[in-house]
Amino acid sequence: MTEREWPESADQRAAAGLAERLERVEQRIRRACQAAGRDRSTVALLPVSKTQPVAAIRQARAAGLSRMGENRVQELVAKAERLGDLPDLAWVLIGHLQSNKVALAARWASQIQSVDSLRLAQALDRQGQSLGRPVEVLIEVNTSGEPSKFGFPPDQVPAAAAQLRHLTSLRPLGLMTVAQQSSEPDQVAACFARLAALRERLRQDQGGGWAELSMGMSGDFDLAIAQGSTCLRIGSAIFGPRPVAAADQPSTA
Ligand SMILES: *Cc1c(COP(=O)(O)O)cnc(C)c1O
Repeated sequence: MTEREWPESADQRAAAGLAERLERVEQRIRRACQAAGRDRSTVALLPVSKTQPVAAIRQARAAGLSRMGENRVQELVAKAERLGDLPDLAWVLIGHLQSNKVALAARWASQIQSVDSLRLAQALDRQGQSLGRPVEVLIEVNTSGEPSKFGFPPDQVPAAAAQLRHLTSLRPLGLMTVAQQSSEPDQVAACFARLAALRERLRQDQGGGWAELSMGMSGDFDLAIAQGSTCLRIGSAIFGPRPVAAADQPSTA
């Protein structure tokens, strides 16, 4: 349509900007992997598309990104419906999940990284039973102790993880955290180290499993790679600054 009429449309410029930011992120990831003596292939990138318009997600898909993280269920579902024509696009929920939206989340998200209570885990397990497939989950841990953050306190995680083993329609894959918002790299790294240590503890308790460590965002993912992250959740460094309430605007895609 209109985007074909000009050699360089606003859409094309936006796509070029995204590709450039993505390349810079990729370079940062490679450098951090190298510094940590890790293979690039051991760290997955989960782009976080929250508040970004569907047009930006189309550009991201065209740039080769095939999973998108969203922190609100309604927004995830609305975008998934509008982008139903895109092949192989998977959605990951990374924000707090309210019990009245559990069914929607289980149906539309390929993975839920924000399991922050046993009740939520049990509700997702029931959804898995009725869907006839296991629900992939990560346990969210509040590694900073900040009251504003969701997640299990670290000392409750081993018991919760043991409980999850009885929920046969859940597939617990690992742990997720949002580090302390701090200008002190040591404090941020300490949050990541705490999550990695917890994961080791679970592996010992359960004889393996718990492979995933979802940690690291635009501002701190280099530190997260150094501490063993397997999944970087990166929003603004890929998509640019978040527009306000862009998801509520009419689609141009
Ligand atoms: C928004 C968000 C991110 C990405 O944040 P950026 O700083 O934009 O990279 C990662 N994880 C969670 C849980 C988020 O809500």
